[in-house]
This record gives sequence, structure tokens and C-alpha cells, in this order.
Amino acid sequence: MDSAASRIIKARQYAAEKDQRIRVYSFEVEIHGDNANHFVSYNRGKWNCDCEEFIRRGICAHVMAMEEILGDSVEPAFLPEPGSAAA
Ligand SMILES: [Zn+2]
Repeated sequence: MDSAASRIIKARQYAAEKDQRIRVYSFEVEIHGDNANHFVSYNRGKWNCDCEEFIRRGICAHVMAMEEILGDSVEPAFLPEPGSAAA
């Protein structure tokens, strides 16, 4: 097998095993929502989105979509603060 072919196989293996092999530290994406575009960012476990839902609740469909895509490569978005008076 030539080195190009083995590189492709390795790449596919790494991608398929992303939950074990990949740790994401930061990214910025734009999500085209049904009503508006939203800007989602992630930095060392801290999620952010510019939508109203995220500002009110700390979680939203845009962040959840990115969690779904990235799986265990990122930290969970919704971890309620201990002792916070969440309704
Ligand atoms: Zn959002």
C-alpha cells in the first residue's frame, strides 16, 4: 500500500473514532436557523450562542446541534451551577 492510501485509511479511522481521538478546544460557527442566523462559539468547555433562548436558559437548539455533531469531542453544554435557583 502506498503512503497516500495508508494516510487516507488512517484519516478515516481517526474520524470514525472521533469521540475517543478528538478533543475540540475552540471553534466558531454560524448556524442558519429557520428565522435567523446564529453565531455559536465554544472555548475550552464554555459554550455561547447569540440567540435569546441561550441568553435566558444557557442552552438552545443551535448549541445542541453542535453537540450532536461533535459528540464526546466537546464538553456538555448544559451543566447547571450547583446551588443555582434554576426554575
Ligand atoms: Zn442559540
